[in-house]
Amino acid sequence: MTVRTTLKWVISVALYYMGVVWIVRRLGREAGTILIFHRVRDAWHDDGMSVSRATFERQVRYLARAYDVVSLDEMEQRLRGVRPLGRRALAITFDDGFRDNYTRAWPILARHHCPATVFLVVGALDGDAPMWTEQLRGALEATAADALDATWLGLGMLPLGSEAERRQSLRTLSSWLKQKPDREREPALADICRRLGSPAEPSAARMDEMLTWEMVAEMRSAGLSIGAHTVSHKILTRIDPDEAQWEIEESKRRIEKHLGESIRHFAYPNGTRHDWNSAIQALVRQAGFETACTTVKGTNPRGADLHALRRLDINDRACTDPSGRFSTAMFAVRLAALL
Ligand SMILES: [Zn+2]
Repeated sequence: MTVRTTLKWVISVALYYMGVVWIVRRLGREAGTILIFHRVRDAWHDDGMSVSRATFERQVRYLARAYDVVSLDEMEQRLRGVRPLGRRALAITFDDGFRDNYTRAWPILARHHCPATVFLVVGALDGDAPMWTEQLRGALEATAADALDATWLGLGMLPLGSEAERRQSLRTLSSWLKQKPDREREPALADICRRLGSPAEPSAARMDEMLTWEMVAEMRSAGLSIGAHTVSHKILTRIDPDEAQWEIEESKRRIEKHLGESIRHFAYPNGTRHDWNSAIQALVRQAGFETACTTVKGTNPRGADLHALRRLDINDRACTDPSGRFSTAMFAVRLAALL
């Protein structure tokens, strides 16, 4: 653990036990908090998008106690001013549609009676377009190579010897590939896969990481809400407007076909300020989505732009103390946006 983690922990504990979190939650401005989760794993997995099952259990227990955990529908109503927003309204969202949302997250949410929304990359469920990030992850996990020569991408030699090195190399490659349009990313990814000894075509093996439509229907009928996150997780500002429109509308259409109800919530792939703009927002609105979530950090006051909702990203690292245990104080301070 780094000095930074220790410092963060010490300050968080001080703020939490001095009652600062409590005061902010009761006297701060009214705002709705939306959390982003991706994966819930069996154990700590430091990929920046996972929480362990044990951590998730502690988080949900804390949220159920300290916050007013509401559905995204209810959050929308409050942000519109239909009902009072309050200071403790919080919605839980999951991006992408990983299978562990069903196997690990859902039982915990159900036990604590917490609603949540899962944003699906529908192509990953249909098997027609596994997410390229998952394809890359699979290739790096499966390779026997202990390094990847990525000088042709301007990235030098990427070490793959240890698990930590593989994760670091995955981060380096993902952030490089994310910046590229399809026509450059697809051949580069195929090239990387070839060099790692993986098939250049997306493998069906990664499919078992994602939800099935049966699981989605089961969660929906138990009260979880389902939103759309495009067909293939392409960054919408980096493709033609026609293709962006298809990604948005087709994902809505396919989920509606499976669930037989209108799908009202959308999440932008990647979701940073560069990954959506007013033209993309207009397409999302035209498609009939009432809200759209970004990954821009922050909370949402009443009257916030419903097609640019801010969220807080949650992973294990954000709330683990220097001894590697879950810290309620760190989690609480992060949610209150005090650090
Ligand atoms: Zn995503």
